[in-house]
Amino acid sequence: MPTTDLSLEQIEQLATAVFVSNGCDERNTQALVKTVINAERDGSHSHGLFRVPGYVASLRSGKVNGKASPVVKHKTAAIITVDGDGGFAPLAIERGIPALAEAASTVGVAVMAIERAYHFAALWPETEALAERNLIGLACVCYKPVMTPAGGNKRLLGTNPISFAWPRPGNNPFVYDMATAAMALGDVEIAARDGKQLAPGVGLDASGQATTDPAEVIKGMLLPFGGYKGSAIAIMVELLAAAAINEQFSFEAADTDLDDGGPARGGEFILAISPDLLAGDGWAEHAETFFERLEAIDGVRLPGERRHKNRLSTAPRPVNSELLARVEALIG
Ligand code: NDP
Repeated sequence: MPTTDLSLEQIEQLATAVFVSNGCDERNTQALVKTVINAERDGSHSHGLFRVPGYVASLRSGKVNGKASPVVKHKTAAIITVDGDGGFAPLAIERGIPALAEAASTVGVAVMAIERAYHFAALWPETEALAERNLIGLACVCYKPVMTPAGGNKRLLGTNPISFAWPRPGNNPFVYDMATAAMALGDVEIAARDGKQLAPGVGLDASGQATTDPAEVIKGMLLPFGGYKGSAIAIMVELLAAAAINEQFSFEAADTDLDDGGPARGGEFILAISPDLLAGDGWAEHAETFFERLEAIDGVRLPGERRHKNRLSTAPRPVNSELLARVEALIG
């Protein structure tokens, strides 16, 4: 597919113009633009500019509040809630992370529940933000029912991503961030757009038959990664990001969503643990002995390494030209 090279500054200007002209106030615009830029900078292509038309669709339908002002509260010393005020998640996360980090650094472990927010992005920004504060981070969100549990052929689960970050003082944190679906829906949509076939095992068509056609999987359902094991993790995500924080399961989100092309309302579960308080002195050096052995194995690369390498580049980023035209048309 043809691409157009854009500098990160050009991507920033474009995203800012789109969000401002579609009703976002300055704080929400800044938080959203940062999310888009960070995704493009790191090469998280399914969660940068690619998501902008969906963000705009939900602003235009009135589903999402572009002027949301999320409120952070302490339920207990170790439980923090952020009322997202019906806005997109990035501003709620930005406001909540300092309180979560402070609580975990004091108590040793803390949980943050983001409620009444619309998450449409990657999760690594929130877990990395915790690791940068020398905390272990874990985050997960539900979505809408687009995936069948292993063994079935009925949509019930979201693509239910989970991210974990481990702090490595003086080094990039160890971070993984992955859908519990065999493939993130955004990537299936990109494959459909680009006319590519999927690997076997990504999804089923609407009648429950295996298919490698992304358009049929979009009409049908995704499969969890790793069979029943990935399915169990996806179920855990439903329980943590919905039941544990009194927010919507994926199936409930589908019932209340406008299907406007943007994200459904949901919650985010974020856990932070202080290794300083849990393991005590020397935890980082101890962990490094493990990383040394891990990285010494031929063929192994750490999750997050690709993104961290991309981050160092100041070169323009190739943007799908058709996507660029669609995003530009959203201004005004
Ligand atoms: P990938 O399968 O591309 O990558 C998953 C993880 O595995 C990443 O941490 C990646 O690191 C790592 N990885 C990839 N290849 C290798 C390798 N060869 N060796 C070691 N590690 C590797 O991600 P997904 O497609 O599953 O998910 C993409 C994104 O979609 C995630 O950011 C997720 O949060 C987001 N998402 C968001 C949703 C929402 O509702 N908000 C819903 C579903 C997904 P690296 O990045 O360095 O390649």
